[in-house]
Amino acid sequence: MAVSKDILTWYEGAWHRGNAPIIGAADHAAWLGSQVFDGARQFDGARPDLDLHSARIIRSARAMGMLPPIDAETVQGLLEEGCAQFAEGTALYLRPMMWARDSGLGVIDIAPDSTAFAICIEALPMPEPGGFSLTVSPFRRPRPDMALTEAKASALYANNGRIMAEARARGYSNALSLDADGYVAETASTNVFMVRDGVVFTPVPNGMFLAGITRARVIGLLRADGVEVVESSLTLDNFDQADEIFVTGNIAKVMPVARYQDRVFDATPMADRARVLYWDYALSRERHLV
Ligand code: PMP
Repeated sequence: MAVSKDILTWYEGAWHRGNAPIIGAADHAAWLGSQVFDGARQFDGARPDLDLHSARIIRSARAMGMLPPIDAETVQGLLEEGCAQFAEGTALYLRPMMWARDSGLGVIDIAPDSTAFAICIEALPMPEPGGFSLTVSPFRRPRPDMALTEAKASALYANNGRIMAEARARGYSNALSLDADGYVAETASTNVFMVRDGVVFTPVPNGMFLAGITRARVIGLLRADGVEVVESSLTLDNFDQADEIFVTGNIAKVMPVARYQDRVFDATPMADRARVLYWDYALSRERHLV
């Protein structure tokens, strides 16, 4: 995804300006989809939870059966090194990636020790809240025995991509998708929260959606601020009765939903509160500025 013209790539021990080629035509990932990635952020000089994002790509690679050629600390150090090459204050999307080059004996399986690594860092402004709309997708999310859901695997984004495209075609920003059991899972690119009578609810992790790093951070911050947060199985009926809905994810951190189906939310006090808490957390120099 080239989201920007201002791109820096780390590949085979060196930084390259621009959208550098990294995958060979015969690489396993190029035709069989064996790629994992993670996404972190720099904004206002902060890189919240960079250590957790650096650790998750290692876990994703292992979940896919790869042997990561690098450890989490080194990934984090390289991400920090890359950020330093952009003008100060630039908002950045930091994306480490791993993929398999070679096949195993069965051709469609991977050779674990052929794992390659690259980083792509792209200039990407933080989206502003205001116009984010949500619908309900006709497409569901698979169980862990149907797809490799424990990895942040690029292959899963074929399904997420069609969820997004179908929502966009109907004029919405994104869509809730249900899991294989009919409960709300997440959107195509974020986790989801709803508010009812001052209590915050979010789907309980069940292996059918990415239980995100931002999700966990926001739950912790809200609870520390005295808000009751409940993780449970949620239905579309629950969302129909929500006083407020918001989504969390690396790209925008906390984003209030301004419109859900044909319902417009005039005020989003809990999302606003979660955003303030998140930004306070991210910008607290002692803990997170590097
Ligand atoms: N779900 C999906 C499908 C995502 O792509 C993302 C973004 N990585 C998230 C949830 C949010 O996860 P995180 O907060 O760890 O970025």
